[in-house]
Amino acid sequence: MTFKEFMAKVEAKNPGEPEFLQAVKSVVETIWDAYESNPRFVQNNILERLVEPERTIIFRVPWMDDNGEVHVNRGIRVQYNSAIGPYKGGIRFHPSVNLSTLKFLGFEQIFKNSLTSLPMGGGKGGSDFDARGRSDAEIMRFCQSFMAELYRHIGADLDVPAGDIGVGAREVGYMYGYYKKLRNEYTGVFTGKGRTWGGSLIRPEATGFGVVYFTNEMLKTKGTDFKGKTVALSGFGQVAWGVAQKVTELGGKVVTLSGPDGYVYDEEGLNEEKIAYMTELRASNNDRIADYADKFPNAKFFAGKRPWEVKVDIAIPAATQNELDADDAKALLANDVFCVCEAANMPCTAEAMGILLDAKILYAPGKAANAGGVATSGLEMTQNSMRLSWESEEVDEKLQSIMRNIHAACLEHGAQDDGYVDYFKGANVAGFIKVATAMCDQGLV
Ligand code: GLU
Repeated sequence: MTFKEFMAKVEAKNPGEPEFLQAVKSVVETIWDAYESNPRFVQNNILERLVEPERTIIFRVPWMDDNGEVHVNRGIRVQYNSAIGPYKGGIRFHPSVNLSTLKFLGFEQIFKNSLTSLPMGGGKGGSDFDARGRSDAEIMRFCQSFMAELYRHIGADLDVPAGDIGVGAREVGYMYGYYKKLRNEYTGVFTGKGRTWGGSLIRPEATGFGVVYFTNEMLKTKGTDFKGKTVALSGFGQVAWGVAQKVTELGGKVVTLSGPDGYVYDEEGLNEEKIAYMTELRASNNDRIADYADKFPNAKFFAGKRPWEVKVDIAIPAATQNELDADDAKALLANDVFCVCEAANMPCTAEAMGILLDAKILYAPGKAANAGGVATSGLEMTQNSMRLSWESEEVDEKLQSIMRNIHAACLEHGAQDDGYVDYFKGANVAGFIKVATAMCDQGLV
């Protein structure tokens, strides 16, 4: 079978799922040679098996708002691949959630989790629930209704969810509490838990910190670091918050943040007070970055725009999928941005990614750069199993070492003849080989 024939088959089987097809196409294109050159992989038809989730659960989530009105959302959990460990991946609550987004995220998660070198399979879940303007009681009722169905499909050795967009410590708490009540057991079935009830230190910061550790490794290959560099960052959620902290600590200057309403440019750069304010913004549940410019008047707000037009050295998209398109990529290059590191999952469109790779600047995909979040989830699972809690230094050290190893794996599989490192290819091939080999070893299941 040729790559074209393979894609035609996947497209025919998954119509109306653009994000999923985008992720599959871009990944399979880069692993095709590694697949075809291994007779065992071909003999076992690994690629066709890999793109088909092992199981998908779709369910109704009815809930009542504070006025007694009944609403219905759709809940989904994609249990994608369990070749190297229990299904593992976050839960996303956002109006844009549908089967296509969760399948793309679950598919990416297989490779990401494999790269961490921890025993975690790939999964993803979520709902099209919109938390904007909802009270705490409404959010709790929604989480409980969601868990009233999901609890029977997950478990500490089966499927371990965590947070993602719209799901932070509060939502994990409500879902975990309800799971515990229904199952009558206290196990590490969720990660991203609160510190006093099984959560790991550093987990909230881990995705952002990991992105910066990874970027630092990339910068090292060019003999430089974050000191004195300006950074365009998008989003203002937990991932962006971790990135902002670590970049600032390492001497870089984060000058932008963004939301669905536009972006803010703060020439002075973020500091401790402004980074702390990001948490307040997130808790406000209103999704407006414009509030930042009201609070810190030296910052300028640009309605309806994205931060990729600002002149900086490094760009870190940390909001959501396809938030950086071909025009944005061209604008970054025109401004001499020399490093783009993805903190979100698939924030660059396929076209944008092609432009950045062709320009041969430092460019890393989310599945490698943001793997520190799920890696630290893996460390949380280990601590839960041991009934122990590690100091933050210990977790942070392990996180740094994991990020260095992921970077090394990308170099090993992504180095080109001319010396350029294609991190996208490197991450895909490294993640793929391990999962594909495990699938072959385990027979036709
Ligand atoms: N949602 C995060 C991700 O995209 C974390 C998943 C987890 O910790 O399980 O990797």
